[in-house]
Amino acid sequence: MRFDVFTLFPAIFDSPLKESILKRAIDAGLLEVYLHNIRDYTTDKHHITDDYPYGGGGGMVMKPEPVFAAVESVLGIRDRGSEIGDRESAISNQQSAIPIILLTPQGRPFNQSVAWELSKFDRVALICGRYEGFDERIREQLVTDEISIGDYVLTGGELAALVILDAVIRLKPGVLGDPGGPLDDSHSTGLLEYPHYTRPPEFRGWKVPEVLLSGNHAKIERWRREQSLWRTLARRPDLLQQAELSDLDRAFLARLEGDRLDS
Ligand code: SAM
Repeated sequence: MRFDVFTLFPAIFDSPLKESILKRAIDAGLLEVYLHNIRDYTTDKHHITDDYPYGGGGGMVMKPEPVFAAVESVLGIRDRGSEIGDRESAISNQQSAIPIILLTPQGRPFNQSVAWELSKFDRVALICGRYEGFDERIREQLVTDEISIGDYVLTGGELAALVILDAVIRLKPGVLGDPGGPLDDSHSTGLLEYPHYTRPPEFRGWKVPEVLLSGNHAKIERWRREQSLWRTLARRPDLLQQAELSDLDRAFLARLEGDRLDS
């Protein structure tokens, strides 16, 4: 899978891409990350990428020309300015090919199902903002999607790009050692994952639950499922609305709710 990242600060990506699973995915040819410095696409003497906002107010705004030039040149898109007037056309034009994603706290929320959705593409473009954000024409005319990684404001889109890249690439076959790993993870099944233990069986007097040492796989599976249900009910009951639940799961949850009311 290939990511084209458009940024004013490509060096931010150096360390995360040189460690652990992302590095291994790059070495194995499963992940390609191309960092494009938006400043390289300026045409003026001072390589200016931002300017004062029309209408006044504090902060600077990212200029449209270098962002359009960078994305159009890298993705091989013709200057569509005169022929396509609305964003709908731009989206339908490119949806099948490469999603062009603007990172913005105003975008649709990123979550595990958006990560699965993006993992189906071979190539994704991410545009990182800075300062007050982008000239609105970038949003209206260039991008096909807008994503936020949460309801808070970062100083720039680079960390958001890394979050998305990391969450998406681990879903691609071959990237994780355990191919089934992502399917059990929290948010993939609609529930939070069950707790994990490893050796030693007793640490400072705290024991690993007996069932996990029993070798009885059916019992272990049921214990894990119940732990998942219990955790989700305790920490994120909102997730249970969407989760796929069996009759057994529902009966277990009803018992938990009953116990809670009794206590
Ligand atoms: N003034 C903008 C607003 O209120 O919507 C925020 C600009 S922010 C300081 C600068 C850049 O950081 C944004 O253009 C965006 O690329 C990135 N950014 C900040 N918060 C983000 C979030 N929650 N998700 C994705 N990108 C974010």
